[in-house]
Amino acid sequence: MSRYWSEGLADLDPYVPGEQPRDQKTYIKLNTNESPYPPSPRVIQAIRDAASSSLRLYPDPTCMALRETIGGKLGLPESRVFAGNGSDEILAFAFAAFFRHPEPLLFPDISYSFYPVYARFFGQNAQPIQTRADFSIPLDEFLVPNAGIALANPNAPTGRGIDPALLLPVLEHNRALGRVVLVDEAYVDFGGTSAAPLVGEFPNLLVVQTLSKSRSLAGLRAGFALGQEELIEGLERVKSSINSYTLDRLALAGAKAALEDEEYFQETRAKIMATRENATRSLRYLGFDVIPSQANFLFASHPEMQASRIYAELKAAGVLVRHFNKPRIENYLRISVGTDEDMSALAARLSAILGRPAP
Ligand code: PMP
Repeated sequence: MSRYWSEGLADLDPYVPGEQPRDQKTYIKLNTNESPYPPSPRVIQAIRDAASSSLRLYPDPTCMALRETIGGKLGLPESRVFAGNGSDEILAFAFAAFFRHPEPLLFPDISYSFYPVYARFFGQNAQPIQTRADFSIPLDEFLVPNAGIALANPNAPTGRGIDPALLLPVLEHNRALGRVVLVDEAYVDFGGTSAAPLVGEFPNLLVVQTLSKSRSLAGLRAGFALGQEELIEGLERVKSSINSYTLDRLALAGAKAALEDEEYFQETRAKIMATRENATRSLRYLGFDVIPSQANFLFASHPEMQASRIYAELKAAGVLVRHFNKPRIENYLRISVGTDEDMSALAARLSAILGRPAP
């Protein structure tokens, strides 16, 4: 608290990102859903070229070349694509652009923990919808008056995916209300199904994706949104009222190159999905209850030991995972999918911690 702060600043409840330890080498880092693989070599080359040729100049504020590449891949014109500094920035812009209405803003109670933070920041009244005991989402409960709906698909931190066909009633309901449905597809490339093909039919659908996870670019900060022109223009208006150059020249060049290297993308995401299935089996063998995941992480609890204790013991043993000290999920761990070797090391340490034979 400080006398210099604007009114309301002290009441915010900022998001707390997963730990980034200073000495990364000593940990197997499975706590922030980063890719265990480096980005495509073509990304590094593109960044080198951009760095040596043009840093003196401002970047393109419209991000046109990147938006054309994204649109080209997804069969959408660039006018239906927005590019941003990671999907967190796009989510913030979308909350500001579309969710300020008198009714409550809806999202599941167990979902990405940035949603309530944005809602608070923008002074929006949010009403969490309780997920079921298995963390599946009761979509019919969203069919009420609302200021907008935010859904992560696959959901975080559970990893559960929903078939976008099941979203149709929610999209139709909100189309009739004149309210936006934001589908946050940060993890969709790991086995989920995108709602992007529905953009043409639903002027109230905004799909948000990121290059942080499946393109191994968490450190670059690039994401994009897909929607009809009115929504893209809404995002542009917010962006251009804050910062014209959210993506720098290195990020624009690197993100474009990442999207162009389809073969590398397919190879790394397939490896991560295969490792996830093996890791799910190992964790179940060790007695964990593991939610079926369509993401690059697993959400698991153990009937014999508190998640907070497993988290602390794993950390002491050099493995970082994520524990959310939040009602309903305090006994779960979110474990990012690393390499096969990372996951074998995790299983070996868990077997020692739990006193059970290794898988
Ligand atoms: N959405 C969800 C559901 C996430 O888990 C994350 C990662 N924390 C993001 C969006 C943001 O990712 P980024 O800003 O790196 O694109």
